[in-house]
Amino acid sequence: MTPPEAQSSSSDVAVSSTCGKINISPEEFHELRASASAAKATAHCPYSRFRVGAAVLVANGSVVAGANVENASYPVGLCAERVALSKAVTDGTWSASSSTSAFRAIAVSTDISPPASPCGMCRQFIREFCPLSMPVIMFDKNDEYVVLTLEELLPMSFGPDQLPPAGAPGAP
Ligand SMILES: [Zn+2]
Repeated sequence: MTPPEAQSSSSDVAVSSTCGKINISPEEFHELRASASAAKATAHCPYSRFRVGAAVLVANGSVVAGANVENASYPVGLCAERVALSKAVTDGTWSASSSTSAFRAIAVSTDISPPASPCGMCRQFIREFCPLSMPVIMFDKNDEYVVLTLEELLPMSFGPDQLPPAGAPGAP
């Protein structure tokens, strides 16, 4: 698909329009942007030198950020999106049984332009914890951004709802 044209996050008109579509406030948008951008400074990326920051917005308004963490054994490295989501899951910010802890949006920030999108592995990882309508906000080095839903990034996806319930035939 052709990516949407990037918009400026310094444009109140653009941000307001985006926020209306994805049901977050402009304040939440800018907190996500700032958190994802700031998280880049915490990246451990001595091999690629490609810093990525990610931040997730939770229904209760809290934001959890992460960055990419590389490893001398290259495939062992973690992307920022998976770090941020895992932090939120393991610190108790997110819970499968609480609607007030549901994820509402995820932001990703890089030092390139146009904006980079989550890799395929991260799209599947996001799918585990987020609805298909989840907005993924991608910021470039100038804080220009594009937004796509998880479903647009990962069509015909496989998720936890497609597994049989625990205890059912075929379930572990
Ligand atoms: Zn990734």
